Order: sequence, then C-alpha cells, then structure tokens
Amino acid sequence: MVDKYDKATRSKMMAAVRSRGNRSTELRLAELPRRHGLSGWRRHYPVAGTPDFCWPKCRVALFVDGCFWHGCPRCRRAPKSNQAFWDAKVTENRRRDRKATKALRKEGWTVIRVWECQIGMYWFSLNWAQAQFG
Ligand SMILES: [Zn+2]
Repeated sequence: MVDKYDKATRSKMMAAVRSRGNRSTELRLAELPRRHGLSGWRRHYPVAGTPDFCWPKCRVALFVDGCFWHGCPRCRRAPKSNQAFWDAKVTENRRRDRKATKALRKEGWTVIRVWECQIGMYWFSLNWAQAQFG
C-alpha cells in the first residue's frame, strides 16, 4: 500500500499524535504514586522495553500501554485513511511489547501490563506492587 502523504508530512502527523498522547499519560503516571505516597519505584529504568514504573529491588516492571499505539481492543478506532499503515505500526509495537516482556521474565522480572484507558487497573497494580514489594 502506497502512503499518500510524503515523508515529512507523515512524520509531522506521527509526532503530533505521539506528543498529544504522551502529555496526559505522563502527567497521570507521575502524579498518582506521588500523591499516594508510594515509594521504591523508578521511572524509565534502563531495562528491556523501558517500563513506565520499576521496583528494581524486587524486579517488578509495570507498563502502561497507550491504547492507540498498542492497539487496545476496547477503545482503539482504526483511522479512516491509511489503515494498512497504522495496522503495521500497531503490529510492530505489539511485537516489541511481547519481546520486552519475554526478555524481562527470562531475567526473573514480574511484568504487569495495563491499558492506558484502564486507569483503575493501573492504580490497582501500583497498590499491589507496593504492598508486595515496596
Ligand atoms: Zn483502551
């Protein structure tokens, strides 16, 4: 399938989607554990996949997957144009996710993955990790 946008336009579009998605997610991610006094976690710890949160001492990694980029079955709407292009992107992201999870588990990490839209699940996982390992 031929991309109807040129390279520069395409990368501008992708950058716009990416930064919009990240700003709100990053805010919520950083805000929640602090507000609830959780401790022992690190952001963007340099291991496979760069988890959103890590408890390095006990090897727990928590990923929050963006619904759009990782293909959440509940809320990802397929874009109207260039569907093949976006599908390939999401497929690639998911492949990378699985690879990172596998690599971490092999090294004895507990890996938790939640969807961005499930902020409740995310919060539940944080609490659980804190209770177990904090
Ligand atoms: Zn979702």
